[in-house]
Amino acid sequence: MRIADVSLSTTVLLALALSAVGCDAQSRQSRVPTLPPPSITEYQPRSTLVVPAHEVPRAKFPVVDFHGHPPRLTSPAAIQPVVDAMNALNLQVMVQAQPSSGERLTQQIDAVRAAGYADRFVFFASLDLNNVSPGSGARIAAQLEADVRAGAVGIGEIMKGFGLSTRKADGTRLAMDDPELDIVWETAARLGIPVFVHTGDPAEFFEPLDYQNERWLEMALFPDRQFNDRSRFLPFDDLMAERNRMIEKHPNTTWVLAHLGWHTQDLARLGEIFDRNPNVLGELGAVLYDLGRQPRFAREFFIKYSDRILFGKDSFAPEEYPYYWRVFETADEYFDYYRDYHAFWKLYGLELPDDVLRKVYFENALRIIPRMPTAGFPPQ
Ligand SMILES: [Zn+2]
Repeated sequence: MRIADVSLSTTVLLALALSAVGCDAQSRQSRVPTLPPPSITEYQPRSTLVVPAHEVPRAKFPVVDFHGHPPRLTSPAAIQPVVDAMNALNLQVMVQAQPSSGERLTQQIDAVRAAGYADRFVFFASLDLNNVSPGSGARIAAQLEADVRAGAVGIGEIMKGFGLSTRKADGTRLAMDDPELDIVWETAARLGIPVFVHTGDPAEFFEPLDYQNERWLEMALFPDRQFNDRSRFLPFDDLMAERNRMIEKHPNTTWVLAHLGWHTQDLARLGEIFDRNPNVLGELGAVLYDLGRQPRFAREFFIKYSDRILFGKDSFAPEEYPYYWRVFETADEYFDYYRDYHAFWKLYGLELPDDVLRKVYFENALRIIPRMPTAGFPPQ
């Protein structure tokens, strides 16, 4: 073959390749739809994929819902529908993580006992973190001791206002690692109860609301989930650093980070927190959309950190729990998530091994919550 032939054929090939690339680039950059494009809420494509599907209405093992927000459990009329839903889903115990204190706590404990369901619910205590000033820590700790004597077995959920917006008496923001609160976390350690804390929100909520933000729809639907005003809120990373200082300062306290610490879009980062702090666990409520879009990496993470992850659901919507069972128990592919403003993508199953499911569903909760009812759980 002569040199000229080579260069000719190379030129032809190059030209062909360039025209293909150019065509592709052109279709993205300058082609416009010949019809008015639908809006983000109008476009609801029907999946035509046909693959094996396995609905899981009932969890494979009995479950502790570490992050329950049922209605206030003060009467048989409030309690019985929750128990009925729990029975259908194989939820054995629900943590009432809508926290309460004093009489609002004992009313619920008494009502659940009177209804015969003392082994189906446990109660976490609330902390009054508003207007903290010198001496507040001791007062909050004393109330906590009273609530634990009355039957509370944990603290929380401490809501996201703590760190984001809760103010001290002097008007400044209450830092999560404020020394005034040290006595509270040390009291929790002494009483052997977990502290269940929700810090911040998904990292994207702290970023500009532009068309590259993958949570654009949720932020637009719920303006109170926008934390990107730097004059009002810390950046995501600063907030998480403050939370980490708090948990590192109290290594004898058992901390449970709600929503897996909002690090599910970067599980390795959560793994580093677990590695550095043996006293920290994570609860997985309301982040299923992130786990289900990375089934292989999330599966490895769940296996590696199976002692550190707790099942929790957050909002009490019985019809949503089976999505969790399906993601954790099956290898199903490309199925719908229950809330389209969390995620416009589909989910995949992690097909977790039974020993991991057991730990996440109930064994870890039984280990860290004192005086947990054991009725209804398989022997460990
Ligand atoms: Zn919650």
